[in-house]
Amino acid sequence: MTVEKTNLSPFITFKVNEQSFLFDGGNGIISKVDSIIVDILELARTYDLYSQSEEIVEILSSQYSEGELQNAIEAIKTSREEGFLNSSGKVYDFFEKEYSDSSFKGNLWLNVTDSCNLNCRYCFEKEGGKVQKENNMSIEVAKNCIDYWYAHINKEQNIYDIVFFGGEPLLNKEVIIFAINYINSLLKDLKGIPRYNITTNGTILDDELINLFSSNTFFVNVSIDGLRAIHDKNRPYSSGASTYDRVVSNLKKLNGAVTKLSAFICLTKYDIPYFKQSVFWLWNMGIKNVYGNLVFGKDQIYGYEEYREYENQLKDLAEITYNNIIDGKPYVYNSFIENIKSLHKKNFTSNCYLWQNGIFIFSPNGNAYKCYRFLGDERYKMGNINDADLDILSKKIKKEKIEKCTDCWFQLFCGDGCPYEHDVYTGDINKPAELLCVKSKIAFQESLKLYARLQMEAPHRLKAVLGGKI
Ligand code: SF4
Ligand code: SF4
Repeated sequence: MTVEKTNLSPFITFKVNEQSFLFDGGNGIISKVDSIIVDILELARTYDLYSQSEEIVEILSSQYSEGELQNAIEAIKTSREEGFLNSSGKVYDFFEKEYSDSSFKGNLWLNVTDSCNLNCRYCFEKEGGKVQKENNMSIEVAKNCIDYWYAHINKEQNIYDIVFFGGEPLLNKEVIIFAINYINSLLKDLKGIPRYNITTNGTILDDELINLFSSNTFFVNVSIDGLRAIHDKNRPYSSGASTYDRVVSNLKKLNGAVTKLSAFICLTKYDIPYFKQSVFWLWNMGIKNVYGNLVFGKDQIYGYEEYREYENQLKDLAEITYNNIIDGKPYVYNSFIENIKSLHKKNFTSNCYLWQNGIFIFSPNGNAYKCYRFLGDERYKMGNINDADLDILSKKIKKEKIEKCTDCWFQLFCGDGCPYEHDVYTGDINKPAELLCVKSKIAFQESLKLYARLQMEAPHRLKAVLGGKI
């Protein structure tokens, strides 16, 4: 007998408080289902639901009656005729639309410096050796980049995201202040507003910067690794001295002074057991929005034990995030909240800029790229701001289909992963590394469970989360 699997959408099943759920990864839909449906679908991964239903019934006959099984199989078939569990690769519709759309989404990313005053042990800029140091962006280059960006924006847009990045961007405070004043003056007669974003190591701050941040719409993301001992081990000054007290003091000054403050934890394999303690520590400091992610590198390859520990930490964080949401407390692990919002809105768009005309990214010397992590990599350079014929919008990169991703339940929200990371770990932007896939799926799966639990047990609190009231 040949065993064939049914051609279903990629899916997963999971339980929340004894209730079974099904996530149809081809359509991005979560449904509450009976355990009989889960048992049949798990077998349908191996047996064909249509030509081998008798085998499925026989295997499950000690758990359910034949009538129950036949009815459940028919129910699944009917749902499939209506489109459920009957799709894969929808994400490529989005990539195709992006590829054929020549309009610009209007965002600007200035890498105002590639210098840094810290010596973080996992810094991606130090790894790979691809990055050529250019140091600080000049005011002249910044002005030319902003003029180029302004000439291309849709003047009817509501929000323009402007990102300052580095190195440590605040080492080039002069250009940041210039850029903000100049952009504000260019946009003053348009209906759209600039929304400034900066990712900083939190060691550089003064009253002038606080005033600048608080008088504009500013999202400030500070990198801090949580507990003092972990932070100091990972994120010392170049001299080796501790940065912790300075970063904490600056975080406290920023809290409440900016539109949105978030703290980002870079989690190394050695610090996984302390992850939730680091998040609690930051919450106790009054920082409501805490994010985190595992870092990868030559000495950061993860095995089964580490992933299991990471999963356990996330489970505990999901539990406390749930309780805080129920109690109306604003302390949440933000990576879950963002996933929940995407799940609810069925926001299948990919965050990867490489395939889109979403943003102009400029290096300190005015070299143009589609992704900040490919800075210095000639393959992805789109030209330079001083080129008379610079035309970033015409330089599109075609997204290839990836079979492994099309068979993956996470594809609609993962968007085939990060091409830069694929390149680093497999040497091919279209070949995902399994160890990165496992990491991404663990965090998303906990978000799925939290979303299902809120839907089932506290829909009014879920509404508050979706409305940004938590
Ligand atoms: S390649 Fe990766 S880092 Fe670069 S824009 Fe895409 S997702 Fe982001
Ligand atoms: S990159 Fe990995 S996790 Fe993401 S869709 Fe592809 S296979 Fe799935």
